[in-house]
Amino acid sequence: MKIIRTNKNATVVGAGPAGLTASIILKKAGYDVDLYEQNDNVGLRFNGDFQGLENWSDEEDTLDIFKNIGLEINFLCQPYSGDDGIFFGPNRKSVKVKTSRPLFYLIERGSNENSLDRGLLKQAEAVGVNIHWGEKLDIVKDSPTIIGSGPKAADAIAKGMVFKTTHKDFFIGFLDNKIAPKAYAYLLVNNGKATFATCMFDDFKNEKLYYRRALARLDSVVNIDKIEPKEFGGFVNFFSEPKYSKDNGVLYVGENAGFQDALWGFGIKYAMLSGYYAAQSIIAEEDYKELCKKNLVPKLQTSLANRLLFANFTNFGYSFILSRLGKLPDVIVPLRKHYNPSTAKRIFYKIAKRTYKSRLIDKQCMHIDCDCVWCRHGKSEHREVAANC
Ligand SMILES: Cc1cc2nc3c(=O)[nH]c(=O)nc-3n(C[C@H](O)[C@H](O)[C@H](O)COP(=O)(O)OP(=O)(O)OC[C@H]3O[C@@H](n4cnc5c(N)ncnc54)[C@H](O)[C@@H]3O)c2cc1C
Repeated sequence: MKIIRTNKNATVVGAGPAGLTASIILKKAGYDVDLYEQNDNVGLRFNGDFQGLENWSDEEDTLDIFKNIGLEINFLCQPYSGDDGIFFGPNRKSVKVKTSRPLFYLIERGSNENSLDRGLLKQAEAVGVNIHWGEKLDIVKDSPTIIGSGPKAADAIAKGMVFKTTHKDFFIGFLDNKIAPKAYAYLLVNNGKATFATCMFDDFKNEKLYYRRALARLDSVVNIDKIEPKEFGGFVNFFSEPKYSKDNGVLYVGENAGFQDALWGFGIKYAMLSGYYAAQSIIAEEDYKELCKKNLVPKLQTSLANRLLFANFTNFGYSFILSRLGKLPDVIVPLRKHYNPSTAKRIFYKIAKRTYKSRLIDKQCMHIDCDCVWCRHGKSEHREVAANC
């Protein structure tokens, strides 16, 4: 899959974290980059909601990884360690964990001034990436092309709200299949703004029920005022094997390629690093698939193995894990071990790969014009995407 280049033009589709990262790296290496974004702004998939940049899967700090690949941290990026929050298991017992460094960095998604999406856009504009707003690219151009057009189907969903609050900076993580089937719910508070959401890897049809229950659970454990609440929903897509390239040499990055954490949906780091490796493969004429296999795929496969395991834990299992985590002097190292390959995880991956099927075309819902987070019926642009998968 080695791609020989004769000119220094490149085309990128999708101004998400994956496409923007690829564009910045290519432009800095001297390529003329045309970046096509179907919307008129970045981050329209998101809602000004807070997300977490996980900081446990690598020995190196996530921000150092980004700086080392040539990115600036010019967006809201607030470290949260074990001391800054709390976890609740199904038995409603609170658990605090200890961390030797930030557990995650709180970031904002969407088109607001301080969002990750806008920060990356500013970096792309500063180096001179040529951005084509409101344009979908349907044909493959005669230049190296990277496609980072985001998810195609809902393998997991989130339903939540953003609101203003007077509560201090804080986070809560909830594990309980009654409020977040085979997943988790979270509260993130920063500087007078908050995001609360429940995630589901199962039983999407009952998303509203789980959301109501999750909100009730939140209110039962913390007294938090919710000013100007706005509801939102979203979905993530992961594959058992990433899609790297097609015969025409087009490279796929980010969630569109299946670079997504199958365990908990922490896909931002995968998206940005796959964008970096795709750009690097063009610049240094290296094999993109090999770069991914060396640097991203072992963790990706482990995440699918972890999904298989986690999906089979019952509420009893969640309570057990949380109480164990609460007793550790530092959860970062065990979490890293859990997120990286081992012989057992390789075996579980083989089983998970056989049992797991991505829901590329979701057939579950039959409501026309419904407002289900995951439903594709009645949404013409979604039908179009699904038909082209
Ligand atoms: C509610 C929610 C919470 C999340 N929380 C976290 C979290 O806490 N931590 C974490 O790490 N991850 C989280 N994720 C996942 C993370 O947001 C994604 O993994 C990440 O955004 C993927 O980046 P991407 O660049 O691949 O795709 P996207 O961010 O989806 O960007 C794709 C871009 O391509 C554009 N596009 C699509 N089709 C075309 C086309 N044909 N032509 C031109 N442009 C096109 C889209 O408009 C979009 O701007 C969350 C996701 C959701 C939905």
